[in-house]
Amino acid sequence: GEDPASASYVRSKRLACDVVGIKSIYHPLPHSVTEHELIHLIQQLNADQTIDGILLQLPLPDHIDVDKVLELIDPQKDVDGFHPYNLGRLAQRRPLLRPCTPFGIMKLLDSIQQVYKNRHAVIIGASNIVGRPMALELLLAGSTVTICHRFTENLAEYVPQADILISAAGKPNLVKGKWIKLGATVIDVGMNRLPNGTITGDIEFASARERAAWITPVPGGVGPMTIACLMVNTVRAA
Ligand code: NAD
Repeated sequence: GEDPASASYVRSKRLACDVVGIKSIYHPLPHSVTEHELIHLIQQLNADQTIDGILLQLPLPDHIDVDKVLELIDPQKDVDGFHPYNLGRLAQRRPLLRPCTPFGIMKLLDSIQQVYKNRHAVIIGASNIVGRPMALELLLAGSTVTICHRFTENLAEYVPQADILISAAGKPNLVKGKWIKLGATVIDVGMNRLPNGTITGDIEFASARERAAWITPVPGGVGPMTIACLMVNTVRAA
């Protein structure tokens, strides 16, 4: 379709491919594409020996079953790491192609020598593409993990317990700066477009940075790491 946010993400991903020397082929499909046509294209790309990675830009139009289509991508070409096989491998502590956003966050955390064991990680958001795989990554790294989601009523009780806080709810200013534990590592995944066109995260940045030891900005924090990890996954798949 013509989703402007998707178009912008696709442009950034293709640009990254150019920079690192990955050949990318773009298949723009209209919003009216049928599930059958999309599946046919994926099957062609699965069978094509010259293709190492397949990325299906989400969200899909409502008339297409996203889970069904994602599951038809060859797991060895699933560079987004969304296929149930790849999520299952991560759940079983044997990751192969890892979901890019949590994978990029682990690289950010590793870069500051984050200690994981005996540390409490609190994740806000439980989606298949961010919250859940993030929990699996941090569990694998040895943290004690709590996942909060839309049915969690007392965020203000959980957030102050977090040595590592990851927010991926997609709700601007959901997390108050005063809730942040002193010295915590704070990762803001949220990408929220305000009515005035600016992009902001889920966390009150100005007050949170006064308490956090480390904090990621929005934009410019997690987003670029997601794309970098997409490149890493594609090279691995190749
Ligand atoms: P989603 O809508 O699929 O999931 C949001 C999750 O947040 C759900 O599990 C929901 O239960 C939870 N949630 C919603 N409101 C809540 C509340 N008030 N309290 C606690 N939990 C709440 O979204 P998603 O695809 O996981 O993305 C989340 C955010 O991260 C979005 O802003 C998205 O744009 C952003 N994102 C950024 C990147 C990146 O690379 N920077 C990648 C993916 C997603």
